[in-house]
Amino acid sequence: MANRDNPPNQILQIAIPVPLDRLFDYWPPRQYASSTIAPGVRVSVPFGKATKTGVVWRVIESKDCKVDPKRLKHAEEILDAEPLLFFHDLRLLEWASRYYHHPLGEVIATAFPVALRQGKPAILQHESSYALTESGRQIEPEQLKRAPKQQALLTLFREHPSAIASSALAPHKTALKALLEKGLVQEHIEPARPADIFEKPKALLANPEQRQAIEAVVAGLGRFSVSLLQGVTGSGKTEVYMQIIAEALQQGLQVLVLLPEITLTPQLEQRFRQRFKVPIVCFHSKLNDSQRLNAWLHMQQGRAPIMLGTRSALFTPLPRAGLIILDEEHDSSFKQQEGFRFSARDVAIARAKMLNIPVLLGSATPSLESLFNVQRNRYRLLELSARAGNAVEPEFQVLDIRNKAMQAGLSEPLITLMHNTLEKGQQVLLFLNRRGFAPVLICHGCGWVSRCIRCDANMVIHAGERRLRCHHCGFEQSLINRCPACGTGELQPLGMGTERIEQTLTDLFPNKLIVRLDRDTTQRKGSLEGYLRQIHSGHADIILGTQMLAKGHHFPDVTLVAILDIDSGLFSVDFHAAEKLAQMIVQVAGRAGRADKRGHVVLQTRQPHHPMLTILLSQGYQAFAQVALQERKQAGLPPCAYQALLRVHANNALAPQQFLQAVCQLLPPLNAGRIQVLGPVPAPMARRAGQFRFQLLLQSPQRKALHQLLDAALPLLAELKEAKKVRWSLDVDPIDL
Ligand code: ADP
Ligand code: ZN
Ligand code: ZN
Repeated sequence: MANRDNPPNQILQIAIPVPLDRLFDYWPPRQYASSTIAPGVRVSVPFGKATKTGVVWRVIESKDCKVDPKRLKHAEEILDAEPLLFFHDLRLLEWASRYYHHPLGEVIATAFPVALRQGKPAILQHESSYALTESGRQIEPEQLKRAPKQQALLTLFREHPSAIASSALAPHKTALKALLEKGLVQEHIEPARPADIFEKPKALLANPEQRQAIEAVVAGLGRFSVSLLQGVTGSGKTEVYMQIIAEALQQGLQVLVLLPEITLTPQLEQRFRQRFKVPIVCFHSKLNDSQRLNAWLHMQQGRAPIMLGTRSALFTPLPRAGLIILDEEHDSSFKQQEGFRFSARDVAIARAKMLNIPVLLGSATPSLESLFNVQRNRYRLLELSARAGNAVEPEFQVLDIRNKAMQAGLSEPLITLMHNTLEKGQQVLLFLNRRGFAPVLICHGCGWVSRCIRCDANMVIHAGERRLRCHHCGFEQSLINRCPACGTGELQPLGMGTERIEQTLTDLFPNKLIVRLDRDTTQRKGSLEGYLRQIHSGHADIILGTQMLAKGHHFPDVTLVAILDIDSGLFSVDFHAAEKLAQMIVQVAGRAGRADKRGHVVLQTRQPHHPMLTILLSQGYQAFAQVALQERKQAGLPPCAYQALLRVHANNALAPQQFLQAVCQLLPPLNAGRIQVLGPVPAPMARRAGQFRFQLLLQSPQRKALHQLLDAALPLLAELKEAKKVRWSLDVDPIDL
């Protein structure tokens, strides 16, 4: 303990999650000797009127302190006996803060699960969990049909091959007791020492391409490298991941596997648990705070060797880090779109470089960024050209719908194809990336349309709920019958959404079971699983959905896939649109078919000869990507240039533009001439949720020059008098403009 008469001579520099890009100086808490405080421990501090949880970043001598030490406050309490973040973690967070020009305190907060951000103790919570016994695995839920609650619970256990935490079983208390008594379920004991119980996996025999990929990555364990594993759905990428992970486990290493969507984790978790007899933890937003804390601590303490998670899992400390895998690396959900706008892919690569470990990126449709890095020999391309399992390449058909009779977005030839497929007892999948009944309500009398009062957007009709809803700000009202403008005209829905198509399908195919998968139908917990069960059991005939269908799920009994509208993607102002459309087409097509049932993919378009479409369908994604990359090069666009987007919004219509004009005045002396300043222009949606929005794009062929300009300019922005009336944020490497 420090002696009260002998004032401490060290000062803590603390990162606090507030939107100010600096550290804050405090004396150590009164009762602590500063010598026991190490960087990486959490500390609670008085901040304004509140108490905040920060992280000790540095401990400095008081003589080196820039402010008068007498004016400093004492921190309240040191929350951790040992640092939670290791040296490498602190370095990575500092790098990310600088690269994304985002305040360090907020960046650090991203690295913690909520419980730790709130200052809760970093202690593993023991929560009992339950799993099926051997006889529980043997018995069919059917056999319990006289006890429907037990039957439902047994079904739930079968869907979760791993143990289920007792908190999640709270609604099933009596049924759980019954299953425990029958010996169908038992309390699950997490194996304590991974090394002892590790079992050699029952791997499949890798084909030559898989073997080459596995050997390449395994040989590089312990060194930094980036490999891009390209292979269509079913080509055996996951098998490659698992065999590489097996080797990393043998070497005592930890592996972080990042996925774009939480809905995909249960499937992968199931395969991983079947293969590996080591603790596997998941980390995503569907878990509660204490589950997330536990998962994080399992990795941080080195107790678990595998973590499966979404973007937010990226910063989890790994004392024995060996490998980072990013599946579906092209997916835009790896980019955080608010606050600290980081790209999990790019930060994963920076992290691997610091840790000197390999990264493996996987995709059927790699991003142009990654393919560009392959071209520049920065990444190594590993290809799986054949389908490993039982799937075959689908056959594409461009369906020219110009002048064709249409019924709710379905052309006559498509309806005929659907009939033929359904007659054979096979499944049909329809893809439309627009939920709701119709995107807008229009008055046939006067032309009034259902605009959102807060956005430059239309209110979408949700017919079932009888609501009009804005998909951008959430504003809603009940569906009206009479035109509010002329009071007489007839109101009509305009355009197509999944809900409307479902209605038409019900009329066209009255005896078929239609499953609609979109955000509206899958909100209820467990509903997605229920629908997927209907699909996989073969009960569903027609599957209709939004981009939820484009990801991960494989539907082997689907033999006809139709993408109902690709034209809107062909003519977007955003240069990313063509890439995204091509990825979507290939991904949706990849959901279907297997060896004995070849998939047939129909694209409805009014642009049957669009060059992008032609090259994609005749020569494949790789050829498309090379052409698209060439176009980007010629236009001086990313990935051949670097961008940062300054977004501004305000209640006031003029303030955002005035602020950006002031920014433009400020830039020239700082800009050595290599940075293009594009704008200010109104944002693509110039008004959203009542806010007026403008943006300014900075672009340069040299990343370093761009960041130098940002470093010099950003501190001055806050000083501008125009800044007081607006809110602004910076998006480095934006993916939507
Ligand atoms: P992807 O991740 O590329 O979609 P998967 O790894 O899931 O591909 O493989 C697709 C299917 O093929 C799975 O059922 C998997 O078990 C099987 N498979 C993968 N590799 C092999 C192999 N070498 N031999 C036999 N089956 C394989
Ligand atoms: Zn009207
Ligand atoms: Zn709105």
